Amino acid sequence: MKLDKLVKTLPKAELHVHLEGAIAPTVALKLAHKYQHLGVVEKVELLQESIIFQSFEDFHSYYQICMQLMRSTDDFALVVYECGRDMMNQNIRYREMYISIYQHLHIWEKNLHLQDVFDGLLMGCQKARDDFDVEMQWIFGIPRNRHFSGRNPRIFDPTIATNVLDYALQGREYGVIGIGLGGNESDAPPDPFRNVFQQAKQMGLRSIPHAGETDGANSVWGAIKELQADRICHGVRSIEDMNVVKELVERQIPLDICPTSNIRLNIYPTMSQHPFQKLDKLGIIVTINSDDPSIIGSSLCDEYIAVAKEFEYTINDLVRFAKNSIQVSYATTESKTKYLSEISQWEKSYLTNTQQTTAFQEVTYDS
Ligand SMILES: [Zn+2]
Repeated sequence: MKLDKLVKTLPKAELHVHLEGAIAPTVALKLAHKYQHLGVVEKVELLQESIIFQSFEDFHSYYQICMQLMRSTDDFALVVYECGRDMMNQNIRYREMYISIYQHLHIWEKNLHLQDVFDGLLMGCQKARDDFDVEMQWIFGIPRNRHFSGRNPRIFDPTIATNVLDYALQGREYGVIGIGLGGNESDAPPDPFRNVFQQAKQMGLRSIPHAGETDGANSVWGAIKELQADRICHGVRSIEDMNVVKELVERQIPLDICPTSNIRLNIYPTMSQHPFQKLDKLGIIVTINSDDPSIIGSSLCDEYIAVAKEFEYTINDLVRFAKNSIQVSYATTESKTKYLSEISQWEKSYLTNTQQTTAFQEVTYDS
């Protein structure tokens, strides 16, 4: 059997994917036409030709176009619903999607209110559940760079982070399960966000910050110590400090790794230099994710295939990563049991005991 078919049918969860970066290309174009006055139709068409981004900043300018296009309850519902279709096509049973809620409500003249977003998420999610049998929950992101001003001294204003915490608390009944921290890590360390994350955790929300992507292991250290991270988005640069690796292993803090995103954003030059396998071998719980599939041009299945090919992982390893994704998710216990039993069923139907040990050799790697 071909690797792409195996990966496509394997039940799995995706824990690090931005809603704005997962807008289906057809939906982005539809919204660009709907909002002609934004003048972004041409740029969206370019997006669909898989532009190679040169830098983190470059990537963000495209990302912001996608964010601008979500301007009403119906837009959110449509984007979420089509995300659900994509999940069904890749057999992604459950997703935790990161939403830049503050930017949606404050950065552009969208006249969008928090309740509009909640209603859209709820509508899209319910319809996707009915039509595609998939589930989604949300992480509200704090834009780290917007809190700092000045040089000497560097001034920190917690207002935005406090607002996002408030939105997340209100959103719990709509499926918001945690808060995150996103943006460029260098020059925006985690330490000042300590209180907000502490309050979030006290109120039952999870701490799921980005760290160790655009800055080194020190940033991961801050996420662990200051933000009490439950999981870390990326975290790949933990590899630069074995003390941080040891801490992640001991505390069993999983890393939600997005390999192609790291290559496209120049964190590593090639997949062979990516530390995914090293982190896995060192005993860190790793999951595979696509980050911004529509912008980066790589689906979750593409990520599984890329990792399998580069590091010669066996099918058993891919099953292990799929199981990790369910186990360290914040799906309900009932859902987790259901998805894990689906994976067991999948193993039974695709691989007999004998085949399991030799599956790697039997798979055709020409997908
Ligand atoms: Zn991300």
